[in-house]
Amino acid sequence: MATRTIAIFGGGVAGLSAAHELAERSGHGVDFSIHVYEKRSHQLGGKARSIAVPHSARDGRDPLPGEHGFRFFPGFYRHLPDTMTRIPSEGTTVSDCLVVADRMEIARTGAEPIVISARFPHSLDDLRIDFEALFADSGLHLGEARFFAERLWQVLTSCQDRRLAEYEKITWWDFLGAGQRSKAYQNLLVSGLSRSLLANDPMYASVRTVGDTNIQLILGMVSPARPTDRLLNGPTSKVWIEPWRRHLEGLGVQFHLDTAALSFGIENGACTGVEVIEGVTHQTVVADAYVFALPVERMAKVLKQSEARPDAPLKADAILNGVMEVCGNVRWMNGIQFFLYRDVPITHGHLLFADTPWALTGISEAQFWSDEHLPACGDGTVGGILSLCISDWDAPGPLYGKPAKHCTRQQIAEEVWAQAKAAINVGGKVLLEDSNVHSHFLDPDLASHPDAEVSLTDAEPLFVNFIGSWAQRPPAVLPTRNLMLASDYVQTYTDVACMEAANEAARRAVNGVLALFGSTADPCELWPLHEPALLAPFRWHDQRRFDQGLPWDGHIL
Ligand SMILES: Cc1cc2nc3c(=O)[nH]c(=O)nc-3n(C[C@H](O)[C@H](O)[C@H](O)COP(=O)(O)OP(=O)(O)OC[C@H]3O[C@@H](n4cnc5c(N)ncnc54)[C@H](O)[C@@H]3O)c2cc1C
Repeated sequence: MATRTIAIFGGGVAGLSAAHELAERSGHGVDFSIHVYEKRSHQLGGKARSIAVPHSARDGRDPLPGEHGFRFFPGFYRHLPDTMTRIPSEGTTVSDCLVVADRMEIARTGAEPIVISARFPHSLDDLRIDFEALFADSGLHLGEARFFAERLWQVLTSCQDRRLAEYEKITWWDFLGAGQRSKAYQNLLVSGLSRSLLANDPMYASVRTVGDTNIQLILGMVSPARPTDRLLNGPTSKVWIEPWRRHLEGLGVQFHLDTAALSFGIENGACTGVEVIEGVTHQTVVADAYVFALPVERMAKVLKQSEARPDAPLKADAILNGVMEVCGNVRWMNGIQFFLYRDVPITHGHLLFADTPWALTGISEAQFWSDEHLPACGDGTVGGILSLCISDWDAPGPLYGKPAKHCTRQQIAEEVWAQAKAAINVGGKVLLEDSNVHSHFLDPDLASHPDAEVSLTDAEPLFVNFIGSWAQRPPAVLPTRNLMLASDYVQTYTDVACMEAANEAARRAVNGVLALFGSTADPCELWPLHEPALLAPFRWHDQRRFDQGLPWDGHIL
C-alpha cells in the first residue's frame, strides 16, 4: 500500500482534528504518515489550551490552570463532540468529560440579574425561572422585544440563498435597528446575545452569522433533545488536549513542536514544500499534501513572507488572496481568571454581563469540575475560579477611564474585578469579595507595546465574520491540488469562528486529502446547522420569492 506523507501546520483544535480524522482513515487503500508542526515549544491546543500560571505550584502540586479564555460547547455543536467521542481517557472518552450547564445569568450593573434556564424546561423550577425572567424588570419595551422576535423569525423563515445574498451584507446591529432603540435593547438583545458566542461584535458581524448562531442557541434552549451549554469537568488541557495528544501519538501521529511555518511555494498547481524554522534551524518540509491549520492572521503572515519567492502562492492560487482580504477581520477576546479561596458558584452556567463597559462574559468553573482538580493545583488553598473574558478593548473603563488596550495588565485586572463586582454584588448581596481573591491570571498573549500610546498587543486575536466576508473566505480544499486549509475562518456550515468551525474545517480538509489520494475510507461526516423542520414550508416559500427577486414576506403561501 502506498504511504503518503501529510504535513499539518498548527496544533490547535483544527490541526489536531485534521490529524485525528486522517489517522483513523489510514490503511484504506493509502497509508498516511502524519506530521504536525506547531510553533509553540511545549503545548498543543492553540487558543483552547490551558496555561500554567507561572510560579504558582507548591509542594508537588500542579500549577494553577490559567486559560486564554474559558471554553463552552453549545448544544448545536456536532462535529467537535463527535471527534471527542473517539478520544479515550481513563477508561471512558473525553466527551464524557462534558457536563451540562443548565442556567444562564444575565448580570446587570446595579440591578438584579436575569436568570434563564439554558435547556428545555425539565421541571417546574425551570419553568418558573424562565417565566420570571420573561417578566423581569429588564427595562426592555414590549415593542422592542416583539421587534427582536420578528427579526429572529425573519432569519428563521428565510431561505439559505437569501441569507447568503442579503443577510451576509447587513450588520446585526443595523438589522435589529439597534441605533434607534433603548440601551436595554442594545445591551441585552443585540450585544449581549451575540457576544455570548465569541467576539461577535454586532456592529461588524453579519446577520447571517449572528442570526444563525443565535437561533442555534435559542433552539438549544427549547429543544428537549439537547442542552444549550456544556463545559469540561476540569482544566481543558488536562481533561481534553493531553489525552488527545496521547491518543494521536498512539495512532502514529508525529508532533514537531517549536517548529513554525515561514513560507511556501506553489508550482504547476501543487505546493512544493514549506520552509520552517525549528528552534533556530531553517529547513524545508516536503510532503505529499499540506494542511495549513493556522489562524487567519498567521496564514496571512506566511503568505506575505512567501511573496519574495519566485513560486509565490498568492500569484499561483487566486483563492489565497481572500486570506489577505479578511486577515484584518479580527477582534481581541482574552481571558482573565480570578482564583478564589472559597468557591462562589454565582449561577450554574454562563454569565453574560449585559452592560459592563468591557463586554464581559464569564463562568464560575469549580462547580463543574471533578473534585480532584483544584486541590491538586497551586498551594492547595484555591477553592473556586471565576474565569472572565473581555470582548471590548476600546471602551473606557470606569476605574481608570481608559480602554483596556491602553491599560497596564494590573489595571486591567482591577477594572475587570470592579466591573464584575458592580454587576454581581447587587440587591444587598456580596458574592465577590476582595478578601476572597487568592490571585489572578491575565492571558499572557497580552504584551506591552513599545509605543506608550498603545499599551498592549494581542498575540492571538479572534476572527469575526464581518459583513460580506463569506465570499472572500477560502474553502478548505483549494485549486492547488495538494494544499488544504483548516481553521475557524474557512468557509463552513458552522460559519462562526469557534472550535466547532475549526473541527468542521479540518474534516473538509481531510476529505480533500482522501479524495486526492483515492483513499477508500469513508469521508468525514459534515452536518449543516439544524433548521426546524416545522418551518420548512416558510423557507420553501421564501426560496420561490427569492428566485423571483421578491423580498421576504414571512408567509407560507
Ligand atoms: C478568549 C476566547 C474564548 C473562546 N471561547 C470559545 C468557546 O467557549 N467555545 C468555542 O467553541 N470557541 C471558543 N473560542 C474560539 C476558539 O478558541 C477558536 O475558534 C479555535 O480554538 C480555533 O482553533 P484553530 O486550530 O483554528 O486555531 P488556533 O487555536 O489559533 O490554533 C492555531 C495553532 O497554530 C499555531 N501556529 C501559529 N502560527 C504558526 C506557524 N507559523 N507555524 C506553526 N504553527 C503555528 C499556534 O501556536 C496554535 O497552536 C474562543 C476564543 C477566544 C479567543
